[in-house]
Order: sequence, then structure tokens, then C-alpha cells
Amino acid sequence: MKLTFHGAAGEVTGSAHIVTINGKNILLDCGLFQGKRKEAFEKNRNFLINPDTIDCMLLSHAHMDHSGNIPTLVKKGYNGKVYCTDATADLCQIMFRDSAHIQSRDIEYVNKKRLKQGQNPFEPLYTIEDADAACQHIEPRSYSKPFKIFDNVEVTFHDAGHILGSAFTEINFKENGQTKKLMFTGDIGRRDIPILKDPVVIKDIDYLITESTYGDRKHPPAEDVKGKLCELVNEICKTGGKLIIPAFSIGRTQLIVYMLNKLHTEGKISNLPVYVDSPLSSAATEIYSKHRECWDTKAIDFLIHGEKPFSFSGLHYTENVDESKSLNDISGPMIIISASGMCEAGRILHHLKNNLTDPKNIILVVGYMAQNTLGRKIAEQQKEIKIFGTVWPLNAKVEEIAALSAHADEFEMLDYFNQCGASHIEHVFCVHGEEDALQFFSGVLTDAGMKNAHIPAPGEVFEL
Ligand SMILES: [Zn+2]
Repeated sequence: MKLTFHGAAGEVTGSAHIVTINGKNILLDCGLFQGKRKEAFEKNRNFLINPDTIDCMLLSHAHMDHSGNIPTLVKKGYNGKVYCTDATADLCQIMFRDSAHIQSRDIEYVNKKRLKQGQNPFEPLYTIEDADAACQHIEPRSYSKPFKIFDNVEVTFHDAGHILGSAFTEINFKENGQTKKLMFTGDIGRRDIPILKDPVVIKDIDYLITESTYGDRKHPPAEDVKGKLCELVNEICKTGGKLIIPAFSIGRTQLIVYMLNKLHTEGKISNLPVYVDSPLSSAATEIYSKHRECWDTKAIDFLIHGEKPFSFSGLHYTENVDESKSLNDISGPMIIISASGMCEAGRILHHLKNNLTDPKNIILVVGYMAQNTLGRKIAEQQKEIKIFGTVWPLNAKVEEIAALSAHADEFEMLDYFNQCGASHIEHVFCVHGEEDALQFFSGVLTDAGMKNAHIPAPGEVFEL
């Protein structure tokens, strides 16, 4: 077996790894690079994977840093299948289109500058047509049902508990007379998080490629989350402020809506207006509602009691740009949940610009903010924030609920791998993390009994 690490190697985004078994190249994920805009743009444009060499693709989940370059792969000539779970397939339909839309808009901005400098304009990374073409290659598969991709190579997706449809990829293969098992984690979810089922334990792993996002961090206890959210909602009810929540369209938005629904049902918050202001978030919520096979028993209980997890009185999904703009004219208290999650694009930018100078308002950070993103600057409570070329003083209160993370922390990942049988693992490859997290976590896994821990560099190849 050979492993080649293309993306999320020594960094958090651009997940893409190639496993070569019996001469066949299997691509695990094909994500977009995100973060520093110019750098990410260059990396995404200089797509290093030769589609002609890829025989099959397996996708862990629909987040853009794992799936967002699949349309590029197909546009550049990939003609094979992209296997993923049923829910991931549905989410990709909306995610790819949304990403194409963002690519077209970003390129307009880049080209304006290039034309001024007398340079030729760039093409967008991909268009809506390319996004739709990519979806034609998707082959959905159910959780826990093994399927053969080549002779002597069988794949099973297991619930990863990270977002709807997220999967651990188990590859069982026979090469040179030896039978081995490779597990690729994609992103590792958490036990007991609302809506989703717990991560499934996989035993007898020989080779492991694991994410390391929170490999050096411990999340606060889960029971604080609802209490903190409740406290903040009640605070804006008193002050008449607005609670602005930047949230990933997929996963985080549904989680916040679900928790607000619970607080509402339990009578702990008053009936204030809650707006989900992102077309993608609304579409994703519909897909969350549809795929009940991914729900845990508590979410199912909601239905049994005649209520829906993603709808309650006071909750509105905005329909169009005009309605989105009109939120600025309505006074608080109110809650606005909008995307993008790291505040790099989308309607959240308008809500931040309109609300971050007022000390009555609260910006609630509920997710991971990568280095160099606007979200990270807000989370760090920098005094001045630049949006749309203008610098604004950050007077609004910034609060963070880290425990809502969809990623397991160091202790949860360690606990998970101990259940899998850490000492059975011959080689572990730590990917998808910032430098410190990767270094620390690889040490933790070595201490847990994994025999050889590696931190692959971009482009690095391992023959095992
Ligand atoms: Zn993810």
C-alpha cells in the first residue's frame, strides 16, 4: 500500500489523500483549501491531483474542506465514481452549487484587480454546470453495508457523528497475500451531541489516517452549552440587543436551531424572533429533516411527541435578499443565525457589519475559526474589524461556546481510539490540524500504544 498526502497535510483544510492498493489509486476526500484568501485561491487553482490517475473516490462528508474540489476533479477529467453516504450525496447537491456561486463571485473580485493591472482574467475554479456535472458521479451507499470497489478491496462507511451523513471510511484489502484494514476518519464527531448518532467504533485497524483539529484541546463540559445559550438569549431579551451567530450551514445551524427549540419547548426562553438567514442553511435543514436514519433517539422523540426538531414558533427561514436586508431595520431582541461559519463570505458579513459596533449586541462564536479568517479575528476580540474594505470598531460583546464543536477533542479522540484498540494500529498518520495540535496529538497516540506516528508533509509519500 502506498499513501500520498495532498491536502490537510500539516494544515486544516484541503483534505485529499491517495491510497494506492494493488496499483489502484483511491482518492480519499477532495476538499477546498480555505483560510488566507490569496494563498487559498492559489492552492485551489494549482490543483495538484491528476484526475487521469484516480480510479475511485471515497468522500467522508459534505463539508467543503473535504468535498469542495470534487467539481474541479470532474472538470479536469475525472470519470470515475464518488462514493459517499445517502445524506452526504444530498448535501453535496446543494453544497457544490453554493460553492460554484462563491467561486464565480470571488473570481469577479480577483479579475477586477487583474484587469486594472493589465493582466488576463482568471476563469472561476468551477461553475454551476461543473457542480451539477460532478453530482452525476456520486454513488450513494448506506452506512454499515460493505461494498466492493475493486477485486480484494472492500469499503464500509460508518457513522462518524460529525455532521449529517458523515462517515468513517473502513477499507479492507488484500495485497501481496496479506489482509489489512485502513481507517480514514474524515472528521471525528462526538458522543451524545444532539441530533446525530454516536461515532461507530471500528476494531482491528492496521493503518489509520486521523484528523487532529482539536488534538491539543479539551472542550468544556457539554451540559454548559444549553445553559450558556439560554443565558445569552435572556441577556439580549433584557437589553433589546441582537444575538448574531455565524454558523456553518451544515451541522452547526441545525444544532443551534434544535437547542433553541428545546429551550423554547421547556419555557426557558421567551418567544423572540429567530432568523435563519442563509439559503444554504435552509436547504441543508430540509435535508436534515429528511434523513431520519441519521438521527439519534432524542431527535426521533421530538417527532413522537408531535413536534419537529427544526421548527418552532418564532423561527423564520428568510426567503430572499430583501427579507435578509430588512432584518437590519427591525430592532432587537432577536437572534440571527447566518453563514458562512468562519465569516469569510455570505450574508453573515452584512449582519456583522451592521451590528458589531453596538455594545448591546452579542456575537456568539459556536465553531472552529481557522487562522486568518474574519471569524478568528472576531473570536480573538480584535479591536478593529475590516469588512468590505472598511474598518469597524468591535464594540459588541463576543462570546464563545466551544463545547458545540462537531469535532471530538483530544480526550474524546483518545477514548475513541482506545475503544478501537489503539495498540493494534501499526501506522497512524495525523492530518487535518494546525502544527501544535498535530505534534501534540501524534505524541498522545504514540503513548496510547500506536506503533508508528507520522505527520505527513504536503506531497509526502509513504510505502507500507
Ligand atoms: Zn467536517
